[in-house]
Amino acid sequence: MSIQQRLAKLNPRQQEAVRYIDGPCLVLAGAGSGKTSVITTKIAYLVQECGMSARKIAAVTFTNKAAREMKERVGQLLKGREGHGLTVSTFHTLGLNIIRGELRTLGYKPGFSLFDPEDAKALLRDLMQKDAQIDAEQINRVQHQISTWKNDLVLPGQAMSHAADDDEQFAARVYEAYNRHLKAYNAVDFDDLILLPVVLLSSDAEALARWRRKIHYMLVDEYQDTNISQYQLVQLLMAERATFTVVGDDDQSIYAWRGARPENLVTLGEDFPRLKVIKLEQNYRSTGIILRAANTLISNNPHVYEKALWSDKGIGAPIRIVVNRHEEAEAERVASEILTRRIKESATWRDFAVLYRGNFQARLLELKLQHYQVPYKLSGGTSFFSRNEIKDAMAYLRLLINPGDDNAFLRIVNVPRREIGPGTLEKLANYATERGESLFAACHELGLSQVLPERAVERLGRFTRFIDGVRRRMDQGHALGALREMFRDMDYEAWLHQNASAPTVAERRMANVWTLLDQLEKSMEREEGEETDDVESAISRLVLRDILEQQAEEDDSDRVQLLTLHAAKGLEFPHVYVMGLEEELLPHRNAIEAGTIEEERRLAYVGITRARQTLTLTLARQRKAYGELMDCTPSRFLDELPEADLDWEGRADKEDPEKKQARGKDAIAGLRSLLG
Ligand code: ATP
Ligand code: MG
Repeated sequence: MSIQQRLAKLNPRQQEAVRYIDGPCLVLAGAGSGKTSVITTKIAYLVQECGMSARKIAAVTFTNKAAREMKERVGQLLKGREGHGLTVSTFHTLGLNIIRGELRTLGYKPGFSLFDPEDAKALLRDLMQKDAQIDAEQINRVQHQISTWKNDLVLPGQAMSHAADDDEQFAARVYEAYNRHLKAYNAVDFDDLILLPVVLLSSDAEALARWRRKIHYMLVDEYQDTNISQYQLVQLLMAERATFTVVGDDDQSIYAWRGARPENLVTLGEDFPRLKVIKLEQNYRSTGIILRAANTLISNNPHVYEKALWSDKGIGAPIRIVVNRHEEAEAERVASEILTRRIKESATWRDFAVLYRGNFQARLLELKLQHYQVPYKLSGGTSFFSRNEIKDAMAYLRLLINPGDDNAFLRIVNVPRREIGPGTLEKLANYATERGESLFAACHELGLSQVLPERAVERLGRFTRFIDGVRRRMDQGHALGALREMFRDMDYEAWLHQNASAPTVAERRMANVWTLLDQLEKSMEREEGEETDDVESAISRLVLRDILEQQAEEDDSDRVQLLTLHAAKGLEFPHVYVMGLEEELLPHRNAIEAGTIEEERRLAYVGITRARQTLTLTLARQRKAYGELMDCTPSRFLDELPEADLDWEGRADKEDPEKKQARGKDAIAGLRSLLG
């Protein structure tokens, strides 16, 4: 399809947004109104009509899944080499690319590590426990505080001087030490992926000029979810030319808990007085009933911009609300329904999506889907890269390319078992800290024998000689061979067998490791027009990308999609189930306590507006929480939907006596636990 044909398919307001390239442009519109379509078409328009090189265009969005979808949609519009070098990524990946390009300026060494939140927590635990006995809750609080500071562009010095009380002062001290340690490990955390580029670009004019030459046009999807540092990044890169298009919907802002500032929509108008604001009002996604439900629900939130979405997709089927006895019945119901509805609606598996508030809700559903042999794909959750064996293997790879990565060292020094105990590691850590060295480097020191018994030194020595040997073989040539040999030499498979519940489990885990190495080999293969990659940068890309994406290569096979509401943003499906419409689940208990119901309502709005043809909302009357079966109250959001459009199933108008009795028992149990 030519760009002209493509443009002709858009409505006049969308066309205006695509064609407007003389200044900053904001498209502000509700769900399904074609905002993302404006972005994808505009990319093609810039390349094909305006003659801009795709290399100079960067489009960013929030989730990896959304980035992949956008890439696909653009791929259909750009032919052959036209799209070469185009950046379509998440903010984090864009930041990562800037860091990789500016490593030296930033003072990092090649092969740097990216700490995922778990790695970061481990480091914080170490740092905090030096001072006092610290519980997990305090560590979480400090981690969240540090993340907030980073997202708000507050550096340790500023955090220190602005600390309001003892707690903040403590957190600021930890923040400073935490950053210092990250640097020593040659590592960055997730928030640094945006913070470091912003700090660099605002202080280094040459670096700024370099990146402004590289990126001429930026497009940002889901703009309502940008935080201060992400906004600054766009500002810095685009300020001079003011050539960007951002699209967003304030009603879909669902990341306030991660520092998102929907006010950025307003700030944009203040920072760029020439900003052209375009509103879209036709929804092309959902039936009339689904859209009316979404509009009615969200009208309970206060609004900066009023929106009036309409659709000509026909009125559609009523929204079904299915009340189940308990959570297991809910999962059973959803799984068996999809099985039969696929045939009735002559749909494919991938036409169905099941959305939920928290990942834990997927567990029962997975079992039921497996029982019915329904193929499904779980996004997020326990993905390939969060499997233990893959984390082990990745730690080996990380240590091989960055011997300074202490977290990787600690993860695998005793995997498989090498009889290196916690006492030895503690002394080694003290020794390394005193000398300002990494753990791995410290293992090579002769002086170690003064602080550790001979046997311990010998065991550490055996481990370091093993790793050094692998590194040597990797340098000598066939690197992948050396890596495969490494897993055989240390008999990792035997270790898996010792730790698995069944031999088949161990075999599957070993196969996962081989898959990982195959993937690594594949990623080294020469891409068209690019140099062959050496194994180090291939590993580093794999490590970085996969920590970032936390999921294996997307497979587009035909499967039911299981997603959290957060992860579903920007996507659409013919048939959508949203599970668990209960008080304390959606809206979430924490939000009820914190009084942030509006954000939960937006989350429900996001869920509802994913559906094109049918929407089913399910809930359970009882659910296990904290090890006990609890009665659930239907979500207040159900009361906010237009009653006439709902088709309730299984609602007990009269309370059944069995349930009453059960509740009595619960109350007694609750009282007992209160009384100790
Ligand atoms: P969200 O807020 O959920 O991210 P959005 O505003 O980005 O939604 P899109 O995903 O771009 O909306 O579009 C929703 C659906 O409408 C898509 O299937 C898209 O192909 C279709 N669409 C967009 N614009 C038009 C149009 N002018 N004519 C027909 N279909 C359209
Ligand atoms: Mg979109």
